[in-house]
Amino acid sequence: MSDPAPAHGQAELPVLNPATGELLTTVPAATPADVDAAVRRATAAQRGWAALAPADRARLLRRFAAAVDGHAEELALLEVREAGHPIGNARWEASNVRDVLDYAAGGVERLNGRQIPVAGGVDVTFLEPLGVVGVIAPWNFPMPVAAWGTAPALAAGNAVILKPAETTPLTALRLAEIALDAGLPEHLFQVLPGTGPVAGEALVDHPGVAKIVFTGSTRTGKRLMARCAGQVKRLTLELGGKSPNIVFADADLEQAAAGAPMSFLDNSGQDCCARTRILVQDSVLDRFLDLLAPALSAVTVGDPADEATDMGPLISRVQLDRVRGYVPEGAPGLRGTAPEGPGFWFPPTVLTQAAERDPVAVEEVFGPVAVVLPFRDEEDAVRLANDTEYGLAASLWTRDVGRALRVSRAVRAGNLSVNSHSAVRYATPFGGYGRSGLGRELGPDALTAFTETKNVFLSTEGPAQ
Ligand code: NAD
Repeated sequence: MSDPAPAHGQAELPVLNPATGELLTTVPAATPADVDAAVRRATAAQRGWAALAPADRARLLRRFAAAVDGHAEELALLEVREAGHPIGNARWEASNVRDVLDYAAGGVERLNGRQIPVAGGVDVTFLEPLGVVGVIAPWNFPMPVAAWGTAPALAAGNAVILKPAETTPLTALRLAEIALDAGLPEHLFQVLPGTGPVAGEALVDHPGVAKIVFTGSTRTGKRLMARCAGQVKRLTLELGGKSPNIVFADADLEQAAAGAPMSFLDNSGQDCCARTRILVQDSVLDRFLDLLAPALSAVTVGDPADEATDMGPLISRVQLDRVRGYVPEGAPGLRGTAPEGPGFWFPPTVLTQAAERDPVAVEEVFGPVAVVLPFRDEEDAVRLANDTEYGLAASLWTRDVGRALRVSRAVRAGNLSVNSHSAVRYATPFGGYGRSGLGRELGPDALTAFTETKNVFLSTEGPAQ
């Protein structure tokens, strides 16, 4: 079983099945020269794309969405094989790509500027495309995250070069083929698999790339931000999280406990929104743990291709070793089960005696591991929830409407859920406070993030005498 992480400068990227550790295929890794050639092609393609009538651009994007729908099962199965996602999740991911494209297509003809009252003339704004956009995607949600950057960028009149993560290039490559078959102009949407330090940095540094959309670790995001600064390059960052799940004593504890496991086990915990800090009011802590234990045991961990599976393997051996490092042997807690043998498996784990500042309670583990921390009252809950450098998501469970709103406003995070764990919808904005990122994706304003606002004043005063 080899490690999937390729060395810098490697010519071929090995793609493994994380459920078995077996080699699926290899794909060529892009060099800086490949990136340069792709940017030149994209620059030419973008000019033609931006010159098309908005209705025609919208129609082509809708065709792309319909083609994704037609290939949804194929894309989902590819995601199962290369990313180890349970088939149910993978189907949702393929449908999300379709929906994000459809939603963005609806924005093409609504990308309105403004008319602003001024003296002596008429003032209007135009939302102009940026040019070529580089999307750097992670391995945890390879398909949807690629679409969240690509769809609105294309809809706003840009060309896109997508660099998928080293371990998960296959769905992205397939999406580019589907786009071409659906009628998108050649070179408008290109996919360049490659390593971060070679292809990724070449994309970030290329003067022909107007904006970078990055999703991944905070460490890499900070590096890219510094590199973009040299060219004052536009940048959207979707980074890490350490999201709280706050359970008040007045909540429906049965529901809160039933929902808690999958709120951090979805995608094996490799989810920037994973609710990995379960904050429970101390007066109901014992009762909550009694309810959580059977809910955790009921999670089915196994073959991602099996319809009954809730949670699959981790993406790689590197990730497995990383996650193991956070869970000391014999640490007190609740544990589910996971398959033995080949593949990158780790059982669902809730640590019940971790201290507030332990690394496992503070850092993004990116695995199926959560901690339970008690709090006294509402003020203490908000303090604990905000005691993090991140701020991506949060859930809170209470029957008190006033408290639900007070705490939602007080918690410094971009995406709050009350009595649920839902966070990501294509029609609502998504992004983080603090070190969870910069800017927002999705939602009604997604397209404007891929435009420059141009202000034009037209004098009505006539020629100067
Ligand atoms: P990463 O941030 O290094 O990689 C994400 C993407 O960035 C990949 O496409 C990668 O090739 C690219 N990249 C890496 N270095 C780059 C560089 N110097 N220039 C340009 N592009 C570059 O993440 P990783 O190493 O795959 O995972 C490490 C940890 O990051 C994980 O364990 C997890 O904690 C976190 N992570 C978080 C998210 C998230 O959604 N928040 C996603 C992936 C990883």
